[in-house]
Amino acid sequence: MASTIGFIGLGNMGGPMARNLARAGLDVHVCDIRREAIEKVAVEAGVRAAGSAREVAGACETLVTMLPDNEHVLSVLLEGEDAAAQSLAPGSLVIDMSTISPVVARHLHTRLSEQRIAFVDAPVSGGTVGAEKGTLTIMAGGDDRAFARAQPVLEKMGTTVVHAGGPGMGQIFKLCNQIIVVGNLTAIGEALTFCRAGGGDAGELLAALGGGAAGSWMLQNLAPRMVAGDDGFGFPIDLQLKDLRLVGEAAHALNVPLPSTSLITALYLAARAQGGAREGNQAIYKVLARLAGQAPNR
Ligand code: NAD
Repeated sequence: MASTIGFIGLGNMGGPMARNLARAGLDVHVCDIRREAIEKVAVEAGVRAAGSAREVAGACETLVTMLPDNEHVLSVLLEGEDAAAQSLAPGSLVIDMSTISPVVARHLHTRLSEQRIAFVDAPVSGGTVGAEKGTLTIMAGGDDRAFARAQPVLEKMGTTVVHAGGPGMGQIFKLCNQIIVVGNLTAIGEALTFCRAGGGDAGELLAALGGGAAGSWMLQNLAPRMVAGDDGFGFPIDLQLKDLRLVGEAAHALNVPLPSTSLITALYLAARAQGGAREGNQAIYKVLARLAGQAPNR
């Protein structure tokens, strides 16, 4: 494995992930358009700041990106005079860990392979807590050789690293994860609303169901926050909607009807329209409570 790694995108996720690479003894060259994001990471031994994606890419054999969305990844890797592809050497490896479209991931694979640069899409699940602790679940798409090169790097940021399949499959797995997450959260929100309407105690309901067939990570970790009216913690509704947009676009491209996810997307849009953009995704219960004429925060 190359001991010099480039890392572009030092936000809520990328900052701690780059720090974990440096703590594992790698020489990490970083870049971000926000100066303060670089300063936060560069306190770590072994982290060097660079001025552009092109400069980072020229200093390393393996480049990791952790950026907001499709257009940021395309622009940092491919487009413009300062794009990484301008200085990446043939034989180098790019690992994009952002959540983006599987179609864009496959396009990146094709374009970079024309320069003999290997590409792995490796989106993550586990949130900022997983990024800090190095316990992310990482779903990687790419050919076998590229995955084998990426795996030791990914294992420094996550505890579960799976090879999902060829290029773009990491993103498909990640979007499957999101389909299940919102379906589960919405079902829990409906059950809590239904229970209250019937005169039941939501806390008692959770205690009763936790160990049975309806049990899940969401029921264990986020349902108690719904009951307590704690909307501040967790994966923001704005980011959830970004991922649901990617699910919808990919479903169109693949000609797959996703009836319940389409309806749930509308409910998340309602949550944002009602002022919940920065609230955690568990706050979907408030939209369901309002539909039933209940006060959402009791
Ligand atoms: P963020 O907005 O906190 O960080 C993105 C970083 O990219 C910022 O520091 C920004 O300045 C930088 N950036 C943007 N354009 C750039 C450019 N052209 N050159 C260099 N840097 C640039 O986002 P985040 O929460 O860290 O999420 C990153 C990715 O991870 C997203 O794709 C997101 O969907 C995914 N993700 C986030 C979470 C989460 O809980 N936050 C969980 C799983 C996956």
